[in-house]
Amino acid sequence: MRIPALEVVGLAGGYGDTQVLRGVELAVQPGTVTALLGANGAGKTTLLKTIAGTLRPHAGSVSVGGVDVTAQKAHTRARAGVCMIPEGRGIFPNLTVAENLRMATPPWRKGEPYDPALEAFPALAERLHQRAGSMSGGQQQMLALSRCFLSQPDVVLLDEVSMGLAPKVIDEIFESLRQLAERGVALLVVEQYVHRALEMADFVHLMSRGSIGFSGTPDQIDEEQLQREYLGESDSTETTNQTSAVSGQQSKVSDEQ
Ligand code: ATP
Repeated sequence: MRIPALEVVGLAGGYGDTQVLRGVELAVQPGTVTALLGANGAGKTTLLKTIAGTLRPHAGSVSVGGVDVTAQKAHTRARAGVCMIPEGRGIFPNLTVAENLRMATPPWRKGEPYDPALEAFPALAERLHQRAGSMSGGQQQMLALSRCFLSQPDVVLLDEVSMGLAPKVIDEIFESLRQLAERGVALLVVEQYVHRALEMADFVHLMSRGSIGFSGTPDQIDEEQLQREYLGESDSTETTNQTSAVSGQQSKVSDEQ
């Protein structure tokens, strides 16, 4: 059996005493894009933060390439190959593109050329000396995503990277994400554009009230039920049957591949 690039087992966590995640189980294989979908408040961002190590779990484990990193802090996990791109751009608007790229290069890759990022996003190569804040939203997001190309991670966690961008720019960004997957990187993608996410993803996890209700392939999803039970309204309301949004039985990705 292949070792998943990322494996989460029985993960519980949240903010202080407030529990958000409840027994989350998921696996992401190398070279695949996995979409994480769910209503507002389902716990998607909380899960990404807990995987990245910026939030401590109450229980359960996170493994990267078969190594348990649960006890590691965020910067150690980053060095172990986890790159998180949080919601919002996270760049330095007053610095130039080149200066941002230097800041985004992790210490263990300092001195290496920016080529991987510039090949993925040629628009940045033409703007190396431009102030980042003066670029378009799409170009700023490309700059934020450059970090995933510069640190050469094994696992990339993306939180709503298409937020507020024009459709053409989103296409370009999604294409760059597919390129990352083709290099063997495992991507876990939280995305507001559900249809685009389902088109791009190899696998999908549906999240409701802090747990994963379904894991499988996009073609196993009944979209009407997906909309009604997972995406329809904020997750503060009770859902009755988390697994019935799919045409098949609830399945665990790690068992399928
Ligand atoms: P959204 O798309 O709205 O961001 P989400 O699925 O990413 O939804 P989370 O942001 O993980 O959901 O939020 C899950 C729950 O945790 C929500 O009830 C939210 O109010 C709560 N929460 C989020 N951030 C904090 C925080 N810093 N402190 C306390 N509770 C929080």
